[in-house]
Amino acid sequence: MSEVIKHKIDALRKELHQHNSNYYVLDAPSISDYEFDLKLQELQYLENQYPQFFDPNSPTQRVGGDIVKNFETVVHKNRMYSLANSYSKDELQDWESRIHKILDQNQVSYTCELKYDGASINLVYERGKLLRAETRGDGVQGDDVTANVRTIKSIPLVLSDDFIQDFEIRGEIILPLDGFNAMNKDRVEIGEDAYSNPRNTASGSLKLQDSTEVAKRPLDCLLYQVVGQKLPFDSHFETLMKAKKVGFNIPNTIKVCQNIDAVFEFINVWDKKRHELPYETDGVVIKVNDLQQQAELGFTAKAPRWAIAYKFKAEQVSTILNEITYQVGRTGAITPVANLESVQLAGTIVKRASLHNADQISKLDIRVGDTVFVEKGGEIIPKIVGVDLEKRPQNSEPTKYISHCPDCDTELVRTEGDAKHFCPNEYGCPTQITGRIQHFISRKAMNIDGLGAETIELLFKEGLINNYADLYDLKVAQIIPLERMADKSAQNIIDGLLKSKEIPFEKVLFALGIRFVGETVAKKLARHYKSIDKLILSNFEALVNVDEIGEVIAKSVIDFFNDLSNIQIIDKLKQKGLQFEMSQASQENQTDKLVGLTFVVSGVFEKITRPELKKSIEDNGGKVSTSISKKTNYIVAGDNMGPSKQAKAESLGITIISEDQFLKMI
Ligand code: AMP
Ligand code: ZN
Repeated sequence: MSEVIKHKIDALRKELHQHNSNYYVLDAPSISDYEFDLKLQELQYLENQYPQFFDPNSPTQRVGGDIVKNFETVVHKNRMYSLANSYSKDELQDWESRIHKILDQNQVSYTCELKYDGASINLVYERGKLLRAETRGDGVQGDDVTANVRTIKSIPLVLSDDFIQDFEIRGEIILPLDGFNAMNKDRVEIGEDAYSNPRNTASGSLKLQDSTEVAKRPLDCLLYQVVGQKLPFDSHFETLMKAKKVGFNIPNTIKVCQNIDAVFEFINVWDKKRHELPYETDGVVIKVNDLQQQAELGFTAKAPRWAIAYKFKAEQVSTILNEITYQVGRTGAITPVANLESVQLAGTIVKRASLHNADQISKLDIRVGDTVFVEKGGEIIPKIVGVDLEKRPQNSEPTKYISHCPDCDTELVRTEGDAKHFCPNEYGCPTQITGRIQHFISRKAMNIDGLGAETIELLFKEGLINNYADLYDLKVAQIIPLERMADKSAQNIIDGLLKSKEIPFEKVLFALGIRFVGETVAKKLARHYKSIDKLILSNFEALVNVDEIGEVIAKSVIDFFNDLSNIQIIDKLKQKGLQFEMSQASQENQTDKLVGLTFVVSGVFEKITRPELKKSIEDNGGKVSTSISKKTNYIVAGDNMGPSKQAKAESLGITIISEDQFLKMI
């Protein structure tokens, strides 16, 4: 029987891996999303029923779930070198002459690739399966970010065909522009600042502690280099094409050029066309194509001699700064914005640019009326990089940063170490009031159907709401007269509000909008305190003693509850029937028995599935880590614990316990 099941599971995994690759790498799906989901559910069901067949590389593992507090350092098997840079064709010509001097023959061809702008990653494969993903770090050692990288759908967990036994492949984790913009739209919706550029967001994603969060981000991985002992190929291009065949995402833009003139041609074409790409590139990487020649050329202390990057010039234009305006965020942070005479830049029309903060303005001495240089580097929102002083008008005056809130006229404050000014009028400043209510109703918080950001502004303007508790006083008859409202939409809002009374405590806590209390922290606090009353009665010492709650969060929580108006709002919400306690169901099975202990789970189990085991550790207050380190207290080992884990556990003297021993502990 179990043989048959194993077969079935293997077949489903193989099929799903292929569909995944069709969709994410080849961009040619052959089944509908619905059919895909059905198959995935079937596999998930079988894996739950037969946990002995658990495989970290199963397509079901893409959703994440592992929490990693400290990423383990790994020494790269092969050093991750940097690249020499060049900025002009002369420099490229010099590079070619140096190559010719070293090589016996002058016949050299090159591959040209775009320089993908993201975070470098090294993927280690053994026997056709993804074993580990490592960040570049200092080139010699980096961080093990496997749990996060596994969630990126275009990275094959299992190769579709034979390739090379064991190898490493390098690439760049990127965030395509569409996905980046969508993420920012969501963020702005919940009142958070937009991320400034795709590169930083991609590299920040790799270091998130919760891999389910990473799984939600539309990351991609573009590969550019296979590293292994004696590759069985003649050229770099051939190697990449073979890698593409077995499932790696290697962009079609790559091209072999027979001489340096053809390289220049490639650069010219892409310098113009790069703005049409779905992702960002900041240059071209030119590599000697022949692997034998690469070996002859070797490396300098820092970089390969056989490769060089050509950096595109950041596109820059000059235009006139008409006005500086100031925006207020949900938390009261002020952002200065430059309003420009419209100008064409990098394929788009630019009218506004970010000025960041007061220091930035005074550092560059930016003044209204100035002709300024605007650049679009890695950033989506263009920035001002300098002033054309020769064109400065005679009567020009230095910019005086605003001292009062543009919204409510309250005097701004700036705390030590903060680059931004803040409006301290939290409960009187219109933008902050509506921002908080908009956060409250947002998808990840109370998720109230029918209510949107604009409706909140309308309701506020009409004097119908002043804080989020007021929402629950609304009547259909009050909503109908508002712009673009009808009976049905008004009723929807009321229904949505009614339904939100079932939203669990942890989400309600997040919805309150306490600064620094995001989704994850809200969950932690809810689980620890179990009710809002206990949380309100807590103090600073107790809070910082809660796992993963630092001083900044603790202070913010205390400040929030010290404010009487917040307590009043919470009281009102309580009366309206919102959830301010953990439900009985979620409290059952939860204890503090494992508080302070870190577990690593390895192998397959009989009585309990791996996800159940992990949940059980967390429910009892313990922490689950994916990799063994000095901080590990116990390894719960089932059958087939990997030999390398075993050796590592022994060398660090960590106690290995069985499934039964674990169950006894709880
Ligand atoms: P830099 O960070 O400017 O020193 O440039 C070196 C980095 O460029 C490498 O570490 C890679 O992560 C990245 N890179 C992006 N695209 C490529 C490519 N096609 N070939 C090689 N490296 C690339
Ligand atoms: Zn204000």
